[in-house]
Amino acid sequence: MVSYQREWRKNNVEKSRGYGRKHYYKYRDKCLAYSNEYKRTHPEQVKDKTRRYNLAHPDYQHDYYMANKEHCNSKSKAYSLKLKHEVIAAYGGKCVCCGLNEWMFLTIDHIDKKNREVDRDANGKNITGYRLYMILRKLRYPQEGYRCLCFNCNCVRGVYGFCPHERQKVDFLEVVA
Ligand SMILES: [Zn+2]
Ligand SMILES: [Zn+2]
Repeated sequence: MVSYQREWRKNNVEKSRGYGRKHYYKYRDKCLAYSNEYKRTHPEQVKDKTRRYNLAHPDYQHDYYMANKEHCNSKSKAYSLKLKHEVIAAYGGKCVCCGLNEWMFLTIDHIDKKNREVDRDANGKNITGYRLYMILRKLRYPQEGYRCLCFNCNCVRGVYGFCPHERQKVDFLEVVA
């Protein structure tokens, strides 16, 4: 940019912003396409800019959240639901034990309890729910070690070590009783 333009902008911040805004609304599609393309081709620069902005405005995120709580909450809820849909679909969309396919009842089970680095946090605590879903998506849904189970089939395994849908073990229980 030519230096006098820069100088003018500095002295006419509001006016300059107004021009920018007008331009944006007039050529919205073009501007969005350009910025999306820039974001796609310059991921490092975008990340760096965000980092610098956050450092310079440490309270921005918190203040924005406090001022727009409802909007933020509904956005994050929509994001979580979309994420859950995606994860459940990636693991077959139904309970591998009983076949239930109502996604609201479905959850992801970590089969191999020994190999848990992936879903343990820094303190060694198990990562579950949406944090686990985010990790699985980042890893492009590893199929080995994870499976889709409904809450019933998952919880009953946690409590009794097996699911009554596995007939043999139920028979065993009846014999013992
Ligand atoms: Zn089930
Ligand atoms: Zn079951």
